[in-house]
Formats: sequence, structure tokens, C-alpha cells
Amino acid sequence: MASSFKPELVEMPIGHWIGDRLIIDSSGIELQRPSDGINYASCPLGGPEIVDQAVSTAKAALKTSGWGMRRPRERTEVMHRWADFIVAEGEKIGQLESISSSRPIAQSVSIDVAVTAEQIRFFAEMADKEGGDVVPTDGNHLGMILSEPYGVVGAITPWNVPVSMAGWKMAPALAAGNAIVLKPSELTPFSTIYIAQLAIKAGIPAGIVNVVLGDGMTTGASLIAHSDIAKVSFTGSTLAGGAIMKKIASTQIKPMTLELGGKSPQIVFPSADLKVAARCIAGSIMLNAGQTCVAGTRLIIDQRVSGEFMGLLAAAMTSYHAGPTWDATSNYSPVISAHQIARIETIVDAAVSEGAEAIIGGKRMDRDGYFYEPTILSGVEKDSPALVEEIFGPVITVQTFGDEEEAFELSDHPTYGLAAGVFSKDLSQAMRAVKRVEAGTVWVNRYGRSRDHILPTGGYKASGIGKDLGKEAYKSNRRLKSVLIEI
Ligand code: NAD
Repeated sequence: MASSFKPELVEMPIGHWIGDRLIIDSSGIELQRPSDGINYASCPLGGPEIVDQAVSTAKAALKTSGWGMRRPRERTEVMHRWADFIVAEGEKIGQLESISSSRPIAQSVSIDVAVTAEQIRFFAEMADKEGGDVVPTDGNHLGMILSEPYGVVGAITPWNVPVSMAGWKMAPALAAGNAIVLKPSELTPFSTIYIAQLAIKAGIPAGIVNVVLGDGMTTGASLIAHSDIAKVSFTGSTLAGGAIMKKIASTQIKPMTLELGGKSPQIVFPSADLKVAARCIAGSIMLNAGQTCVAGTRLIIDQRVSGEFMGLLAAAMTSYHAGPTWDATSNYSPVISAHQIARIETIVDAAVSEGAEAIIGGKRMDRDGYFYEPTILSGVEKDSPALVEEIFGPVITVQTFGDEEEAFELSDHPTYGLAAGVFSKDLSQAMRAVKRVEAGTVWVNRYGRSRDHILPTGGYKASGIGKDLGKEAYKSNRRLKSVLIEI
């Protein structure tokens, strides 16, 4: 159980982590705490030189440490030790997370830190179990498929759940025998730097895990374009994902995994347990104040039960307790920044001025920090940004349907296909929905991941390319070499 803490008493590690050194850099992007808007730190802005230093260090470390060529079980063991350190320092990591991001301390310790350690263990165990193959050929030949690490992986992560995003990228890359240079979001760099430092403490060789700090346009762009980055792994917005594809196409072709945005539908059929559906859907849009890629932002409900359901949903969404992220009793977050809350206001105000009704919420909360009221919008115009764009805030729209086909049509989004929820006690109907919905993940009678790291995550359509988690994430950090030997 996490405890409340005073943010001003927490020492923040800040600097590029390259090899085994924290390189302090006085250039900076001013940061405000989402919970009270107070300036508390600045994030260095690394240029191409610092990126080059990190990538060269990683490349050299691969050579001198033999990380990718070791007996795989050695990587497994050292990564388990790393996970042990992360668990042991969970309270500190949670504090770094909760000062800078929107994650309440109770959740950052019990969910984000715990899940990060589990992911490291999950991928660590894959190192000595996933490999190449010997293939059938004629008697005069031996055919093999070798599976090899890429070398140095360049990764970029967003601000919404920073430590577990770092885990998503670091764990499969390292278990698969690569080195990594990771650029966390400029808004939330602290927990990533901290776990990178713990990697060395656990015995991962210096230079195998490196963190460079800065924004997307300068630091991120230099990282992905570096000629010694063999593979790119990105999580963030679809807009930035597109910019990254263009940049890579114009510099040096290399493989990439892109985990991008979403606008996930939640379909509620009349046979559903409405109380369960209301709790799950409220949870999906209230978690991190709607700032998760898989937030269930579009409720699509049978018109016969929508009246009853609205009361249940409104009650569930307003039962959360807003408070500073360092207060252990808070379970409702601020949004990340002044810019983000202004964007939510613009989108919701536009929908309301076009005729939508805010069943609950519809404005920012009257308190310090960037808190927005839990909001349900009905009667939203078809092409309104509230229904089409990823809002990344605690705002859910409602659409009703008359029959199953209409439900499926409404669920289709022109751009996104990240996740979807289906609520129905009719198994055949639920399975029809699972088959029909265009999304990389479908949850039935629940919403959101549990700790099932074996399930790959990633989007259909413009929600992404490739998968994080699961065996697929491990495999995507290795490349295949075909060998044919004349006997
Ligand atoms: P963002 O795209 O603005 O930034 C993400 C990261 O990319 C940051 O580190 C940023 O500095 C960097 N970046 C931005 N532009 C870049 C460029 N041109 N070149 C290189 N790097 C660049 O996203 P955000 O606001 O930090 O995070 C929210 C977004 O992330 C949402 O769209 C959300 O859906 C998405 N997300 C997706 C998943 C998933 O698994 N699909 C998970 C979490 C978040």
C-alpha cells in the first residue's frame, strides 16, 4: 500500500543516462506539476551530439560486454535481479512517476511499478526459450533459420504511463540481446532514468541501457535517424508516428514498431449485466483521466437500455476522488498539462455549441492543477472532433443503436482501431462482435488489460504497426537469418 508524500522532498534524478554516468545538462524545458501547476524541474534538451554519444556507447558496450552473444540464461538471471531492484524501490519510482505524470501514487506503485517488474520477468524468461529453427531440406543440405539481435534499438515513449511504457520497450529489446537508447517524453523523464540506473546495479553491463532526454523534433528525430540505430520502437500519437515513418523513409530504411492512438468503442447490448458494464466503462475513461491509449471513449448502446444505463454510468464516473497525485487517497487524476486541458475544453465546448448535451461534467474543476470534470456527451454531431479525434481526457460520447449491424457500423472508426469493449451475456452475439469489430484488442464483459503480458498489444488501421508485449514483441526485437549448408 503506497503512502502519501511531499513532492518537494523527493530528489529528482535529471540528466542523460549514458553508459554508467548521469550527464547533467543545463539546457531545459520547464516542467509543471499536473496536480498544482507549479514549476518544479526542467528537462534537458539533448541535441544530435548527445544522441550520438549514447548510440556509440551502446554499440561499443554490445561489443565489449558480449550482451547479445551470452548464454541466454545469463540475461534472464540478470534481468530478474533488475526486476527485484525495481520492486524494492517501488515507492521511490512511484513518487517520481506521480510528481511528473497524472498517475496517483496508489496506482503508480501498485499497478505501474509492479507491472513493469512483471514485464521484465516475462521477457527475461523468453531469452532461453525463443529461438531459430532447423528446417526440412533434401539429404544433401542442412537448412537453418538463425534468430539474432538487431544491435542498438532506438525507443521513444509517451508521458501517460511512463515507467510501464519504458518497460514495454526495454524488456523485450534487452532480453532479445540488444542494447537500447530510449528517449522518454520530455514531460515525464524521471522514472525512466531511475530504472535505467537500477539496471546497472542489477548487473546489466554499462552502456546496454541508455536514456537521452529532450523533445521529439530535436532529440527524438536525431535518435531514429541515427545510422547505428538498427530498429525503432515508438509509442505515442498517430501524428508523431506518421512523422517518424516519413523521417525514416527519407534517411535510412529500418524496421519499426509503432504503437499509436485510439478512439475505442464500447458496445453495450441489452443482455449485458449493466452494472458490470457501467463499472468497467467508467473505469476505462476515468483511469488516468482518460489519458490511456485504450480509453473507451465511445459508448455505443442499445436504445432500449440507454436511459437506465446513463444513470449507472454517471454514478460510477462521479464516484472517483480527485486529489493531488501524491495523496494516497486520490484515484482520479489531473490531465498532464495546461495545453492538454485547454485542448479538452476546446473540443467539448465545440461539441456543446453544435448541440451536444453534457449529461455530466463539461468543464474544468474549480481547483488548482489541471483537473477536468468526468464528462458524458450525448447528441454529438457525426463529424465533431469530440467523436472523431482522440481527446485524451475524461470525456465519453454516447451513441445509440437499434440493431446489431448498426452497432457494428457505429463502432467502425475511419482512422483508429486500437481496442474495443463488448458487453453481452449472449455468447454468440459477443463472438459476432469480436469477429466484426476492427481493433487489435477486444475485451468482452470487462475492459482493459489484466496482467496478461502474453497477449500482444497493438493497433489495427492507423493505431499502429507491430505489437508490444507477448512473444511478438520479443520476436520483433530479433531478425532472422536463413542458412543453407551443403553437406
Ligand atoms: P506524442 O506523440 O506527442 O509524443 C510521444 C513521444 O514521441 C514523446 O517522447 C515525444 O517527445 C516524441 N515525439 C513527438 N514527435 C516526434 C517526432 N516527430 N519524432 C520523434 N519523436 C517524437 O504523444 P504523447 O502526447 O506523449 O502521448 C499520448 C499519445 O500516445 C496518445 O496518442 C496515445 O494514444 C499514445 N499511446 C499509445 C499507446 C499504445 O500502446 N498504442 C500507449 C500509450 C500512449
